Amino acid sequence: MSGYTKPLPEVQPWTQEFWKAAKEHRLLIQECCDCKAKIFYPRKYCPECWSSNLGWSQASGKAKVYSFTVTMDMVEPKFMEDLPYVLALVDLEEGVRMMTRIVDCDPEEVHIGMGVEVSFQDVTEEFALPMFRPIGAAARKPSPAEGKAQGDTAAAEEALGPKTYKTITYEIGGKNNTVCRITLNRPDKHNAIDRRMARELIDAFRRVREVQSVGVVVLSGAGKSFCTGGDLSVFPSLAEHRSAMDWLAHEGLDVQKAITGCEKVVIGKIHGYCLAGGLELALCCDLLYAAESARIGTTEINMGILPGWGGTTRLPRSMPIFRAKEVVFSGRRDYTAREMYEMGLLTRVFPDEVFEEKFEDMVRLISSKSPIALRMGKEVMDRSAEGGSIETALAVERNGIQWLQNSPALQAAMDAYRKKPDGLVQQQKGSNIQSDRNR
Ligand code: ZN
Repeated sequence: MSGYTKPLPEVQPWTQEFWKAAKEHRLLIQECCDCKAKIFYPRKYCPECWSSNLGWSQASGKAKVYSFTVTMDMVEPKFMEDLPYVLALVDLEEGVRMMTRIVDCDPEEVHIGMGVEVSFQDVTEEFALPMFRPIGAAARKPSPAEGKAQGDTAAAEEALGPKTYKTITYEIGGKNNTVCRITLNRPDKHNAIDRRMARELIDAFRRVREVQSVGVVVLSGAGKSFCTGGDLSVFPSLAEHRSAMDWLAHEGLDVQKAITGCEKVVIGKIHGYCLAGGLELALCCDLLYAAESARIGTTEINMGILPGWGGTTRLPRSMPIFRAKEVVFSGRRDYTAREMYEMGLLTRVFPDEVFEEKFEDMVRLISSKSPIALRMGKEVMDRSAEGGSIETALAVERNGIQWLQNSPALQAAMDAYRKKPDGLVQQQKGSNIQSDRNR
């Protein structure tokens, strides 16, 4: 509550009563003692008869939506976290109209004539702001997880999910459903990232975390390029430039976290252009394979800005710093995949004609390993690469091994070993685990 940074009411002598009641979660409206007119917002004189003889009465708090607008973006940065939100005019039962926000409700469900009731939001020690929610919303407040529950088909159809993605595709396949393919799918825009895509990427990477069979996620781009970064059409005018930039920064961080926080091994498949925000998406992956003809760079500095999606932080951790600085400062968009490889960035570069085949070989190989071991390996290596003492990294490694010892695959292998009559330790070479068990 103390962290509230948005504008607060400036209390006047004639509004004091209103805000005091609001803090007690009571909605007051003014009433003219002479002509009996109901008045909102509070003022000094009756707008009907100019009487200054005004009193208060408590409103029921029930209202109907008269009109509304859904704010999707381009707001004062302090309101960015609330997007999208509904700004509405509501008609109270008592006959006055208020401007307010509709809360506890999917913006798409708001409609004219909808019944709403007041819901006070305690924002600071002194202030509670009257907003409105659908009648009955208090009893049934949807939790963020609710829509994601499996089998909840009605909610799943409405919520963001693989079936409703418009800017990416999401597919689980491969042997034993071990591979999830998340493909940026705005090929006519070189897969530039717009707001929808950012939201869908966040959803997809969080979603795949829950799929236990998956060990590997392939992140690629449809069409001629991997991704050319943020869609510049989100900057409609200079006046709105700043809030859009703020948005890109916030949502961008969420996208990065969704990818790096995904316990699967994320493999980036780079072809065509991989620029600016596109490169920054790639930098969140665990492995990066590129076609020889790919062109890579960070172009932000050409517009007088800098990479804002982790580029300036992850590049120096992905290659020697003298090279990372050249990439950022030069703004070149034509680094070849080989150049980038030599500079230290990529896992491997394949000639175009065999790229597809070689890439799929790697996906098959890695996805054939135990998802749980891949997950632990990623965790331990990331921790180690992040720095910190070798002792800490070793402790994390030991924990990882202990944890893996409880995995069903290893238990089965150990059981099979114990059942051997001679008890001799047999050298286990990968798939031998399985054949030993069947003996
Ligand atoms: Zn009056």
